[in-house]
Amino acid sequence: MIRPFRNRGLSRRRFTATLGAAAATLAAPAVSRAAPPRILIVGAGPGGATAAKHLAAELGDKAQITVLAGAMLHYRAPFLSTAIMLGETVPTPIPLAERLSRNSTRVVSGVAEALDPRTKSLAARHGDTRLELNYDLLLAAPGVALRPFGTAAAAGDACWTAESDCSGAIGSLARLPEGGTLAIAAPAQPYRCPPAIYERACLIAHRLKTVNPTAKILIVDDKDQYPMQALFEAAYADYYEDMIEWVPREFHGGIQRLDLAAGTIETESDSFEADVLHAVPPQSAPDFLLQAGLGPNDGYCPVEAASLRAAEEPDVYVVGDAAAAGEMSKSAVSAVVQAKIAARDIVERLTGRKPSAALEIADQCWSFVAPGDAVTLGGVYMPEGRHFASRARFVSDVEDSTERRRENARQAMAAPGDMLTQIYGQTS
Ligand SMILES: Cc1cc2nc3c(=O)[nH]c(=O)nc-3n(C[C@H](O)[C@H](O)[C@H](O)COP(=O)(O)OP(=O)(O)OC[C@H]3O[C@@H](n4cnc5c(N)ncnc54)[C@H](O)[C@@H]3O)c2cc1C
Repeated sequence: MIRPFRNRGLSRRRFTATLGAAAATLAAPAVSRAAPPRILIVGAGPGGATAAKHLAAELGDKAQITVLAGAMLHYRAPFLSTAIMLGETVPTPIPLAERLSRNSTRVVSGVAEALDPRTKSLAARHGDTRLELNYDLLLAAPGVALRPFGTAAAAGDACWTAESDCSGAIGSLARLPEGGTLAIAAPAQPYRCPPAIYERACLIAHRLKTVNPTAKILIVDDKDQYPMQALFEAAYADYYEDMIEWVPREFHGGIQRLDLAAGTIETESDSFEADVLHAVPPQSAPDFLLQAGLGPNDGYCPVEAASLRAAEEPDVYVVGDAAAAGEMSKSAVSAVVQAKIAARDIVERLTGRKPSAALEIADQCWSFVAPGDAVTLGGVYMPEGRHFASRARFVSDVEDSTERRRENARQAMAAPGDMLTQIYGQTS
């Protein structure tokens, strides 16, 4: 039986009371409880799967771990779309039940729809079947939800989430007439893997250069700057001549409406028409988290940076792209690091182990500008309250040597597969 969902904001008083109750419940080591504590993990991408793996390894049968792994029980990392755009085959989806089920871990198919932190219950759906899952601690790692641009009816398939096999995006390239225009609609920050849109433009240009060399790519952007901009602009000029044009928000005043079928982008001051429209829509944490009061409207979920506990709900953790992690990139690398921090905090709570000191953490992203040529961006952060304070940043330089750029490309090619193998074991 599913209880009706109610959205309750938490007052400071209730927060204190909840925290006190949680501390009392969790202070005792799990081994002394009648039943092992229930840990519910939502999502089995890099964030959820890493947490499941570490919790199972550390807690064994001292906890019951359930992974709610989405509708498909298979995972295809969205970052592998880069390999697809480079002309490689679509990677085989990873079978989640096979890879994540362990003695203390069960993997359940279903999509979370409504979370009630007060009763510690999560309503989910698997086809026509509704599920109600109860937990002692919840770790949410559902990635991002795609939101329509302005009044566009649908978000479109930009090959941006784990659900997409990219066939729609790849198929649309073949529909581009000779000398036609492909427009990329790019959202404002924050969204998943910000440089990936400009990498995508380069890789589409690379494909078109041989089959449709007079085609044009128009990036209509809802912002005025983007990461590694100087590096991408140098690549547009060096590799693709005048094939790629970027139109910042200051030029058009903001995207208001897309018509995916007609290929039009309406902005405040202009209307852009294209033969093919490739929309990377605005994003946010999924509704079940926002409606539970875990994030500002249309945003991401604030967290305590040293533990990844949700800001106002200490028994809920949010890791990966759904978390508001400031300057830390929305990348698989970040999701893995955050999941390890959250898992460590959970283990310390449940075993009564002394809390570890906050550690500096790092992220790194690579972006191809052409096959065999990649640029990179990364940072080091220190958890401070609800902030991941930036301690250092490193970014490729336009003057970097060809050898260095080739080495970046080698790492960019190897890193996704290596990471997935570490998380899930053998990936194909
Ligand atoms: C084009 C592109 C290139 C990228 N390149 C890189 C890169 O080079 N390096 C890098 O580190 N990162 C890269 N990224 C970013 C990376 O893909 C994401 O940051 C990473 O996947 C986030 O991991 P996550 O676990 O938070 O979310 P996800 O990987 O999205 O996993 C979330 C899982 O939860 C499931 N889920 C969603 N909602 C629900 C629900 N309501 N109930 C149950 N399950 C649900 C989803 O189906 C999914 O399986 C790239 C992304 C894109 C789009």
